[in-house]
Amino acid sequence: MGAVGKSIDKIIPVAKPLMDDREAAAARRAILSGWVTQGPEVAAFEREFAAFVGCDFACAVSSCTTALHLALLAVGVQAGHEVITVSHSFIATANSIRYCNAIPVFVDIDPVTFNIDPGLVESAITQQTRAILAVHQMGMPCDILAVREIASRHHLPLIEDAACAIGSEIEVGEKWERIGRPHGDIACFSFHPRKLLSTGDGGMVTCSNAHYDREFRLLRQHGMSVPDAVRHQARDVIFEDYPILGFNYRMTDIQAAIGREQLKRLPEVLVRRRSLASRYQEKLKQVPGIRVPEEPTWAHSNWQSFCTYLPDHVDQRRVMQAMLDAGISTRRGVMCAHREPAYGEASWYCGGGENRCSGPNCSHLKHSERAQDTTIILPLYHELTETDQDYIVEMLADACRN
Ligand SMILES: *Cc1c(COP(=O)(O)O)cnc(C)c1O
Repeated sequence: MGAVGKSIDKIIPVAKPLMDDREAAAARRAILSGWVTQGPEVAAFEREFAAFVGCDFACAVSSCTTALHLALLAVGVQAGHEVITVSHSFIATANSIRYCNAIPVFVDIDPVTFNIDPGLVESAITQQTRAILAVHQMGMPCDILAVREIASRHHLPLIEDAACAIGSEIEVGEKWERIGRPHGDIACFSFHPRKLLSTGDGGMVTCSNAHYDREFRLLRQHGMSVPDAVRHQARDVIFEDYPILGFNYRMTDIQAAIGREQLKRLPEVLVRRRSLASRYQEKLKQVPGIRVPEEPTWAHSNWQSFCTYLPDHVDQRRVMQAMLDAGISTRRGVMCAHREPAYGEASWYCGGGENRCSGPNCSHLKHSERAQDTTIILPLYHELTETDQDYIVEMLADACRN
């Protein structure tokens, strides 16, 4: 690569969706079909998605955030209830709890996997706890089977924030199963451009409970008893009614048509990302002080993000600036919701029993805070070349040395 710095004209992005004429043709097909919002393309995308993850029911919605909202409503989360989750996640995870006027109760993460520490869940359960919301952060599966054991012992529904985890797998018995079957009660996926499969924006809720699935379909379309696509095809006049308060959380047929093309690419995308991730692991192990992410033996990540701890003495912002000066875009570690102004005192809690607290002096979320402050996310996307990847590793080693 040689001379870099001011003369750089190409910035290596941190992520990049993989789309071309195939997606454009699919969008065109939907546009010219005469039916553009939730209709036959959405129905087909749902069937194909369900077949891919191996679930009984998949319901397409407008985003993972709305998927999480519907999931929490379906399991009965209401005002004043508590939902146990992590602060160390994109803010939408905790926000979805607050949309129900419920209270997020944060537990810390395991510093190695960046995922919920199952050992901390039980002591956070109170009389008010109504559900557990576990995140598969950055595509790395959390220990969902350990959390499920606790949830079922306390008769609590378990929701999976699988926003990042399409194509990730866990070992169950002797078999590998994809995230989303689901292993809890409901799983929620995102199709934002930062994830592996994108529809621009979009989401999917999966479950194996027909009652939940009916509820999602009602709630996503204004609580309307008869979907408009059904009325459109009917030969008899149908009047709909509105038995419950619903939302407009629909996916459009244009988005779904794009999603169907993206789904076809997914196997190839997973192979490529796993190959790039293992190259990063191998090369970054040579850099003193860098700690690379590793999969537990029972997990396969889809490597939605590749997040590494920086050496102890180096400053995160300075390293990120040095990388940007060298033409490489990075991100700091995953945010912590409890540190944001939108999360004022008493809008959340953490810890359990006597030790429960809320607010700026909270001491229960040390691993979460440290992960946000001392890790960086490196570029990883389908079309990243090995040459660019070697350059990224070289520049990171330089930045950590100086
Ligand atoms: C991206 C993301 C979301 C939000 O997904 P949207 O589809 O943008 O609403 C929620 N949770 C996690 C962990 C995410 O990474």
